[in-house]
Amino acid sequence: MDYLAGLNPQQRAAVENTQGPVMIVAGAGSGKTRVITYRVAHLIEKGVDAFNILVLTFTNKASKDMRERISKVIGNEAKNIWMGTFHSVFAKILRVEAEKIGYPSNFTIYDTDDSKSLIRTILREMQLDDKLYAANVVYNRISSAKNNLVSASEYLENDQIQAEDAGNKRPLLGLIYDTYAKRCYKAGAMDFDDLLFKTNVLLKNHPDVLNKYQHKFKYLMVDEYQDTNFSQYTIVKKLAAANQNICVVGDDAQSIYAFRGANIQNILNFERDYPDLKVYKLEQNYRSTQNIVEVANSIIANNKNQLEKNVFSANEKGDRIKVSRAFSDNEEGKLVAEAIVQDRLNAGISYKDFAILYRTNAQSRAMEEALRKLNVPYKIYGGLSFYQRKEIKDLIAYFRLTFNPADEEAIKRVINYPRRGLGDTTLEKISVAADKNDITMWQVICNAHQYVDGRIPNQLNDFAVMIQSFAAESKKLDAYETALYIAQHSGILKELHTDDSVEGRSRYENIQELLNGIKEFAEREDIEDRSLAIFMQDIALLTNDDKDKDKDADTVSLMTVHSAKGLEFKNVFIVGLEENLFPSQMSLTSRVDLEEERRLFYVAITRAEKKLTITYSTSRYRWGTLTSCEPSRFINEINPSYLELEVVKPAKSSFGENSFDSERKTWTQQRELSPKPTTSTTTIRPKTTSILPKAHVPTAGFAPNAVNEFQNGMDVEHEKFGFGKIVNLEGTLPDVKATVFFQGLGNKQLLLKFAKLRIV
Ligand code: ATP
Ligand code: MG
Repeated sequence: MDYLAGLNPQQRAAVENTQGPVMIVAGAGSGKTRVITYRVAHLIEKGVDAFNILVLTFTNKASKDMRERISKVIGNEAKNIWMGTFHSVFAKILRVEAEKIGYPSNFTIYDTDDSKSLIRTILREMQLDDKLYAANVVYNRISSAKNNLVSASEYLENDQIQAEDAGNKRPLLGLIYDTYAKRCYKAGAMDFDDLLFKTNVLLKNHPDVLNKYQHKFKYLMVDEYQDTNFSQYTIVKKLAAANQNICVVGDDAQSIYAFRGANIQNILNFERDYPDLKVYKLEQNYRSTQNIVEVANSIIANNKNQLEKNVFSANEKGDRIKVSRAFSDNEEGKLVAEAIVQDRLNAGISYKDFAILYRTNAQSRAMEEALRKLNVPYKIYGGLSFYQRKEIKDLIAYFRLTFNPADEEAIKRVINYPRRGLGDTTLEKISVAADKNDITMWQVICNAHQYVDGRIPNQLNDFAVMIQSFAAESKKLDAYETALYIAQHSGILKELHTDDSVEGRSRYENIQELLNGIKEFAEREDIEDRSLAIFMQDIALLTNDDKDKDKDADTVSLMTVHSAKGLEFKNVFIVGLEENLFPSQMSLTSRVDLEEERRLFYVAITRAEKKLTITYSTSRYRWGTLTSCEPSRFINEINPSYLELEVVKPAKSSFGENSFDSERKTWTQQRELSPKPTTSTTTIRPKTTSILPKAHVPTAGFAPNAVNEFQNGMDVEHEKFGFGKIVNLEGTLPDVKATVFFQGLGNKQLLLKFAKLRIV
């Protein structure tokens, strides 16, 4: 078994000790995930059936990577391992068992938007002050109740919970939770937290089901165990109870989800739960240079609450950690983008070896702008998911209704989209009638003449007939044909086709992209049921990263520190190291929160393999105003002997003086630094053919020019709009706006720094 040679003695012991409870609590980069990967491979090599292994990871991406790595050792069998996030694995199990807890197997999964929209409806109906009972706050309260396995009725009955939870300020939370739970149930819907909450209900109330899964999952493994919440902890504990073959790995120093109910106690309690526990320590970090590991250790030492660990690296000492100061967020973006271009040339590494990590999503804008100016290809992870875009959600709402017409949030979304004269008043009437008669909105719609007057019942009837026709067609057609039928007959395609704005076209292309994805799914040979119903099943659980077709593309990765968990990159930039940003303003009032923020910084640092750069800015636009910023306390916590300080000369442009000169300097620098420009990979391009008009196919090697190169009258090519001529230029660099005449499209106004325009 030569694969075992890739492990040190402790890792190997943890891999080979397959029977009984095992815990590994170890520092970042010490091979915890590697141990799980090899352990699964080892189990299968030893003859354990892949179907009997369950591996729970934190992201879908992590499980995909792990499966790929395992299949390198054991081949095709890797396909049969149960592996995924808690949500995706238990959604799958609930589909099979739903009827036992009174749900249809085609239950809808409400995403956060659906949940909040339902909460808003309930608040309106109860005529509550939406400032006191803000939808976000209510949502978080319900979520945290569910993650602590407190049901709505328990919540209502338990005065103490109510008082503690609401601080007596929101006495009606219990009632809202109860109404919310009933409405979800009636709509045949579960929200994200329900996927775990209902799994708990299922396993608790149905010993036969529990028994079945205890015997199915003879071996359980959980990565990133420090970030499990009580609901997840309980599921794992129940499933492992019969065989006790459970292996969890985690790092208390990387626990960063307390705000979502994750509980470090789960690690600390593990010994109490399993007295026969074998604990393994991993101390060698294989990921990073000595400098990076030592900086990370010195930072985390400032936290009082942590398990004692001694992490070291036997890798090279490495460069010192670079700290760069900028004078504005735009300048910060510029210095990061320039450093990437330079490092790539000097060190001969690829774009995909770089990551830019930030505390909040809003910080990506300045980074993106700077990268675009230098034509550096990048990809944002964990941003707004493709499946969260309005047009995609609209079409998917029709799909949802096709398979579960009780789905009230889907009804609300599309009953009047495209417009068909069924506005808010009608919706209100339907909702009231449904409530009064204790039936679903769908039942009201199907028998509209009993509940609503005037012409509306006819229109509602048309809507019902349309949805029923979708359901009928879905039985005859394959997934792609059904989807296309629905897109056409719902009127969505026509609606988007007539919208000629840039956004409209891009929405149309997104629909096209969704249909292409469904076509690919319909043609897959590795699954038996390729119906649209199956495609639809857990779409609410997908994230942007899962739809990533160009995963091997050579692009710089941009993401929040939270989404960087478990990942590694040769060269990492952590940006925005300022007080009130990182640590975040909200964390500054309590030690517990500040320590979580410090752990987050520890996670960020430990993503870097070779080189780490930390940047901060002395001013930043926040909520629309320019504010001055102080460097983060975390920078001061680093022993200066590990640091290389660098200050960027102030660029007057950030404060408006002399902006043209300084911009010109930037552009000259850029032209010297720029490698051969590449197209950004953030654009989604259609892959397979479809019924929709063809998008312009850019010339091979399409490379946009820099803003200062364009002149009036030039012939140009746009990545999407095709060939055209510049008829006007206005504004000063870099904010030059061009009017371009495109054949067949007429004049379009484009901001050159964003437009993908090439001189031909
Ligand atoms: P994190 O806490 O960030 O999730 P981790 O403990 O899960 O980190 P891994 O991602 O498993 O660490 O490993 C970090 C890196 O070190 C990986 O690139 C891995 O392949 C490598 N590595 C781990 N153990 C060994 C080993 N024994 N020999 C060589 N490389 C190793
Ligand atoms: Mg890991």
